[in-house]
Amino acid sequence: MRKVSIAVVCLLIIMLAFSGVAQAQDISVVINGSEKNFTPAPVIKDGSTLVPMRAFFEALGCNVDWDNQTRTAIGSRNGIKVELPIGSTSAFVNGQPKTLAVKAQLIDNSTFIPLRFVGEALGDLVEWEGSTSTITITSEVVTAIAKEPGKQMTIHFIDVGQADSIFIDFGDYDILIDAGNNADGPKVVNYLKSLDTDDIELMVATHPHEDHLGGLDDVLAAFEVEKIIDSGKAHTTKTYEDYYNAATSEPGAKFIEDKDMEFDMDDGAVFKIIEAGDDFEDLNANSVVTMLDYNDVEILFTGDLDAEGEAQILTKGINADVLKVGHHGSRTASSSIFLKNVSPEFAIISAGKDNSYGHPHEEAFARLRAFTDKIYGTWEDGTIVVTTDGTSYFVNADTKVSVDVPDQAIQGGGNVKIVSIDLAEEIVTLKNNSNLDVNLTGWKLVSVTGNQTFDFPSDYILTAGATVNVLSGRGAIEGINSLKWTGSHIWNNEGDSGKLVNSSGVIVSEYP
Ligand SMILES: [Zn+2]
Repeated sequence: MRKVSIAVVCLLIIMLAFSGVAQAQDISVVINGSEKNFTPAPVIKDGSTLVPMRAFFEALGCNVDWDNQTRTAIGSRNGIKVELPIGSTSAFVNGQPKTLAVKAQLIDNSTFIPLRFVGEALGDLVEWEGSTSTITITSEVVTAIAKEPGKQMTIHFIDVGQADSIFIDFGDYDILIDAGNNADGPKVVNYLKSLDTDDIELMVATHPHEDHLGGLDDVLAAFEVEKIIDSGKAHTTKTYEDYYNAATSEPGAKFIEDKDMEFDMDDGAVFKIIEAGDDFEDLNANSVVTMLDYNDVEILFTGDLDAEGEAQILTKGINADVLKVGHHGSRTASSSIFLKNVSPEFAIISAGKDNSYGHPHEEAFARLRAFTDKIYGTWEDGTIVVTTDGTSYFVNADTKVSVDVPDQAIQGGGNVKIVSIDLAEEIVTLKNNSNLDVNLTGWKLVSVTGNQTFDFPSDYILTAGATVNVLSGRGAIEGINSLKWTGSHIWNNEGDSGKLVNSSGVIVSEYP
């Protein structure tokens, strides 16, 4: 009995000793609408919330300093300087002394500062919502800092004729993807020199064909290159051998085979390598795929990746504002399903004028055109430069690529037909008889007698040569080649006709 009493007394003493500090994991700190997670977590002491010094100052956009002599934490922002000597009830705002309700202090070796005092001293609005234990800070300065334009980056799609060469210039971090054909080496070197390039942080050789790595040996001879990434595939050509020898003997360079990885370019910019598989027989399909992600702006580079390689990265959630079109605009690349995933706003094709391959092919152009009309080519505009601050981007190109494709090929159409309507089973079969994929966004199927309209789902693509069934009535279910209209009956068994209307409101097919 006596032992139990001692234990209870001890427990009470411990509880009293620690009652001043409570771990407040359930306190939320929301700054301009976004919740911040601090490590270590905020604590409540004597009714005031304390937050970790550096993390909190930085979340409010302050420069942080520490005066070791006076053991003072200093945060400054926009001409306001807040000084908090550790363990003191006095603080200073622009040199004026202020009295604190709770001291800045060390807790478990971390420096904590009073949230409300600091927020208000900086001129922000600090509110406490008791029912949800939420502290809301509203700061016009943080909003203004967030909107401040980022550092300028330029992406150069260098005109190297029927070939690829792309240079990303970000001051201290420069990336070169391919360098055109053998003969383009000096041109690429001179172009980089004209931009005052001192060295290249990252070089990407997308795949071993001459039109991509031909000039890389010249670049390696002219510049110091830190890291080199290639597809890991060799080729039997002299061009490949020249590249490989130059790459592997580049002093101090790290030679890396492509896999999913990221390179931090600083200032919010990240360069991503996207693994699309390495085991294809076709060298194009093994192309190193890369993405530049600079805050709100994404640019995707696919080398000569064809549809089979594109299929490998559909599940990776790749979305880009600008697409370097795969394989110079070949029909074997830029599948509709890939374009639908990427949903580019802007497309750039690197190809030579009147090239012997006929690039860009009309099929690829029509598929691109279904997503954007901003399609530009190096043979029309010469070197194309994208400039971005990570918030918006500007492209210095003015001649859109024009390839003669029938309007219906883009809007879809001419050749999508109703091939049968089974009135009893309520199955309507449509077929795309063309060799181009058709995007059925905005299209309608109309039951004339039943006076009902089915709207095709947005971005539904009926690929070249494919059929799709539109089902209604009991038992109608969505499937791989079928769309469900409704569980109700639509078609009049006594006789009904169907009309297919495209997104421009034109009837493109009637049945019977
Ligand atoms: Zn190529």
